[in-house]
Amino acid sequence: MKRRKEMKPRTKLVHAGRHPFEQHGFINTPIYRGSTVLFPTYADLVARNARYVYGTTGTPTTEALESAWTEIAGAAGTVLAPSGLAAIGVALLTALKSGDHLLVTDSVYRPTRIFCDGVLKRFGVETTYYDPLIGAGIEALVKPNTRAVFLETPGSQSFEMQDVPAIVGIAAARGLATILDNTWATPLFFPPHTFGIDLAVEAGTKYLSGHADLLLGLVSANERWFKRLRATFDAFAMCPGPEDVFLALRGLRTLELRLREAQRQGLALATWLAARPEVARVLHPALTDCPGHAIWKRDFRGASGLFSAFLEPCSQQALAAFLDGLELFGMGYSWGGYESLVVPFDCGPYRTATVFDPPGPALRFSVGLEDEEDLKADLDAAFARLRAAE
Ligand SMILES: *Cc1c(COP(=O)(O)O)cnc(C)c1O
Repeated sequence: MKRRKEMKPRTKLVHAGRHPFEQHGFINTPIYRGSTVLFPTYADLVARNARYVYGTTGTPTTEALESAWTEIAGAAGTVLAPSGLAAIGVALLTALKSGDHLLVTDSVYRPTRIFCDGVLKRFGVETTYYDPLIGAGIEALVKPNTRAVFLETPGSQSFEMQDVPAIVGIAAARGLATILDNTWATPLFFPPHTFGIDLAVEAGTKYLSGHADLLLGLVSANERWFKRLRATFDAFAMCPGPEDVFLALRGLRTLELRLREAQRQGLALATWLAARPEVARVLHPALTDCPGHAIWKRDFRGASGLFSAFLEPCSQQALAAFLDGLELFGMGYSWGGYESLVVPFDCGPYRTATVFDPPGPALRFSVGLEDEEDLKADLDAAFARLRAAE
């Protein structure tokens, strides 16, 4: 397809990574399961002369997702991993070695922090956390042995928007690798490599799945980093299961449609919540009064359906009354599925570069595909319970 490069993302999502006539005309690449791949002759075996050589290095199923994601992310290549967190580990271990210094945003997904403070520290990598809003000021934190900057924008609980161009500018000038956890926006709403990011991580568990039924991670890299990324992946053989890859490919085809609806419905609920007297503040970068709005508007093509809100101060009992009677919003971790979720959070205790001190309870919402009015009614009843319990 010569014209593919000029086509719109939603067209690419439909066609990327598929070769029906290599699969007897069937539209979807099937699930190839397997460890051993047979070589027809001794000469072929010695020369490793085959398109696939062993299950860990790739199958038509994994290759379909890798190549599709590479196209959608505008990358030089992609590797898969069995979870988003595993993908973060592969990206960090691609960029770092013993003796290096790493800069990580203080708003980072907490398990990333645990990986840095545990495994990386044990292997001689020192981590400094920085204020997510630091922008070009990050230059002051660069040491002679600094090798990489880890970004996540917006923060997946506290929703600070990072100035990616400013940070990438400093990183490029100082020869640092940039790694971005792009799970919230996906490449559809923030094309990472266009912004100069070297390694971009996506927890496919979230919107790529869209159905809360799989765990998967993806790391895409630009030309400069893909070879090292692939070598690191091969060293671990950190490959996901074939069913999960197949389901991710299925999710990919409808990703744009689902994200667009998540954006619409998420904004509708965020706006509705912002007008409630029980809500002190809504954190959603697409709302004009959100502190990160200007950056979001400048750099992003859309917003997904994950956002947070700070309630006005209330008792634990009132918060429990709010949460416990919910009929539609499930309470639990992860996000990006078809079912709406809500989860209380507090990033205060583990932050080191910034202070997180909301006026009242902090709640994170993942808006699903239920009807908007039904979701509002569920929350309206929850606020009534909260007030009654005060
Ligand atoms: C969930 C999440 C991950 C990790 O994904 P898993 O597949 O659950 O390991 C990484 N980053 C962010 C921002 C996430 O929300």
